[in-house]
Formats: sequence, structure tokens, C-alpha cells
Amino acid sequence: SAGYGRLIWRNGVLMPWEEATIHVSSVGHASVSAAFEGVHSYWSSTRETLHGFRLRDHMQRLLESLRLSWMEPEFDADALVAATVELLASWQTTGKDLHIRPWGFAAGTHRQQMVPRGTPAEIAIETWEFESKLGQGRTCTLAVSSWPRFNHGASPASMKVFSNYHNGRLGNIDAAARGADWPIFLNTNGHVTESSGSCIALVKRGRLVTPSLSDGVLDSITRRTLIQLAQEELGLEVETRSVERTELYLADEIFLMGTSAEVLPAVSVDGIPIGDGKTAGEVTQAIEACYHDTVRAATHKYDEWLTPVHLD
Ligand code: PMP
Repeated sequence: SAGYGRLIWRNGVLMPWEEATIHVSSVGHASVSAAFEGVHSYWSSTRETLHGFRLRDHMQRLLESLRLSWMEPEFDADALVAATVELLASWQTTGKDLHIRPWGFAAGTHRQQMVPRGTPAEIAIETWEFESKLGQGRTCTLAVSSWPRFNHGASPASMKVFSNYHNGRLGNIDAAARGADWPIFLNTNGHVTESSGSCIALVKRGRLVTPSLSDGVLDSITRRTLIQLAQEELGLEVETRSVERTELYLADEIFLMGTSAEVLPAVSVDGIPIGDGKTAGEVTQAIEACYHDTVRAATHKYDEWLTPVHLD
């Protein structure tokens, strides 16, 4: 259990991590029929409190992914938020950032891989420590994946299900083979979609541009957050539309965004430098700073996105 919390939440019960097992006979169907979330909780030194960031929005999306998977969980978003707060509080740590993985999977042991409509879903929530890289000058390199994105009409990107991640893994391995950190997937129409575990945005002539969800992009909570912050805090115009591969090569700035990626500036695509090819552009830096202040609760303006966790 190295690195994991001492406890795990499963179907309404906090139990020791070691005891939260599933039977090997359920692995096949439970991996085909499983949806998950990745959520961050950030320590705020100004408020001396840990806050789940947009926790309820993530739980809502988990329930939507399960609904689209025709499974039936017995908890609602509020119950899952309360469960997470209890689990986070059990760490009894101050000053640490914690990652949260809530997930749901087909309950029971079935012989068939493809469980029928209405199968009950188990829900588990696990947590571990992570280190935020916000504001540390981190950058990455990108490569357009030689594997196209899976067809959005056949396997919707709006379902955050484990089975969608085979395609992501092929892209990761392909990018690594070409010396890049992350893949960028094109859909079968040649439009830019997203990376394997994050969304993409570019800056061109002072405007922020990000692919539309209908091109096959997860309805990312970080993407929603940054669109709003870019408009409200930085006064930027934001275009959500189809994006061509060539626009990547001609962009002034590019960054990845997601719960784990946070705001991750890209310095090249397919070996072509973006900006000075070494550091984040100005707009990206401003967006990263804004996201940092928001998740660390430096201002009160976005308090509705923050779920406080009291550690006493
Ligand atoms: N796209 C994919 C494929 C992802 O796995 C993630 C991470 N959940 C994202 C985008 C970013 O989503 P979010 O901002 O909600 O973490």
C-alpha cells in the first residue's frame, strides 16, 4: 500500500486499504465496465485548509460515465462528496496535496465480459499524495500520434471509462518512441482532439483556441475552469472549434490542461519549436498563475469550486 492512504472508501464503508479487494473472477467484466475520476485536493497555506477542487463536478461526471455505461450505482454526488471529505480527513496531515481516485465498476462475478444493462456498480474511493508542479517552470514536448483517436461516435470520449485508455496508451508509447513526452491525437477527420490524459489549448494572436467537445474530447473540468478564468480574469477571447493539425505548428503558445497535467506548457510539436522552444509563453504563464491561485484558494471569488476538509 506504499503511498496510498491507510483507508479506502468502498460502498459506504471506510476500510483498511489491504481489505478492499475484488475477486479474480470479477476482473474481466469489472475492467470492461468501469468508470473513474481523477481529482485533486490542494493545501491552502492562506486558509490552512485542504480543499477538494471541483469535487462535486467530478462526482457528477463519474455518475454520468456510469449512467452512459448502463450501470446503476447506489450513491448520489452529495454522498460521494461527503465520503471523500471523510476519507481525506482520515489522513490527518497538514500541508500536503492529495490525489483522489473515485471509481465505479460492475459488481459481482459474471461469466460474460459484457454485463447487461442495469448491472449494479460498486464504488470505491482511494487517495494518495501527489506533488503539484504548478509554478515551477515545467514544460513538455508533444508529438502528433500515429494512432488516430478512437471514433467518438463508437466509443464516446465523454465517458471516462478505463476501456477508452487503450488508445491513450498506444499514443503514449508512440510519443515516447519519437522522443516526445505526450501524444496529441487527431480524430479520423484529421482534427485535433486531446492528449492521452489531458486536453490541449493554443494561443494565437492573443486568443485562446481549444478543440470542441464534439470532435471527441472529454468534457474536462480543467478545460471548463481555464476557459472561465481566461475570460473572467485575463479578458481573453476563447474559441472552441475544430482545430487543424497545421494550427499546432503555427501556434504562438500551446499547453496541456487536466487535473494531473494542471497547466503544462509545450515547447515543441513534432520537433517544431513553439515560441522560443524552451519556456512557456506569456499567456500560458498568466493562465498557470491564475489556476494556481484558484486551486490554492488565494482568492474568494471561486469558493464554490472548493470543498474544505477539516482535519480536526
Ligand atoms: N482528456 C482525457 C482523456 C483525460 O483522461 C483527462 C483527465 N481526466 C482529461 C482530458 C482532463 O480532464 P480533467 O480536467 O477533468 O481532469
